[in-house]
Amino acid sequence: MSPITHFLASWVAARQVADNPRDRLLITAAGVVPDLDGLGLVLDLANRALGRPETFYYPEYHHFLLHGAPGCLAAAALAALLARRKLRVALAVVAVFHLHLLCDLAGSRGPSPSDLWPIYYLAPLTRNPMWVWDGQWPLDAWPNKLISIGLLFASFAMAVRQGNSFVGLFSRRADAVFVGVLRKWSGRVDLKGRLVGKMGGE
Ligand SMILES: [Zn+2]
Repeated sequence: MSPITHFLASWVAARQVADNPRDRLLITAAGVVPDLDGLGLVLDLANRALGRPETFYYPEYHHFLLHGAPGCLAAAALAALLARRKLRVALAVVAVFHLHLLCDLAGSRGPSPSDLWPIYYLAPLTRNPMWVWDGQWPLDAWPNKLISIGLLFASFAMAVRQGNSFVGLFSRRADAVFVGVLRKWSGRVDLKGRLVGKMGGE
């Protein structure tokens, strides 16, 4: 699935599991980090645009370098090192990392029915075992769009209820404005800006 869908899924998970901004950032990042192995696309396109010898880093390394257990263990170890609640964050990182793999196995096919993306679970150490699902749907198929929209609305609902959103991963000040707008839209503040009903927040 797309990095945006992975981001939203891991944010929703992080918001449930972590009770502080740093741990939420680490868990959310872990849900997106496998796709860093797709950055070879930038080099491939740059080499082509500059007329240099053609390279194939994207097809060679995407879904190979960081889409397996070794990448997961490295991410969990690094997150545990940086986290406030180390064991909880390490376990959450393992969970969102595997959720990413599962989502890719389900919905990351290319345009043609034969363009299936497998998961090499022990890559980059070895190509065995290789998992592939022949029911895999294309990256731009409606289930991926539906899942992304569902996650987005779940994030908004959580922001209204709990007082912070994924915008806070980048800027707390912008998040305060964003959550304020969401709460106004959802009718949970009255005309003088007072909260209506009971609500959490930090
Ligand atoms: Zn991926």
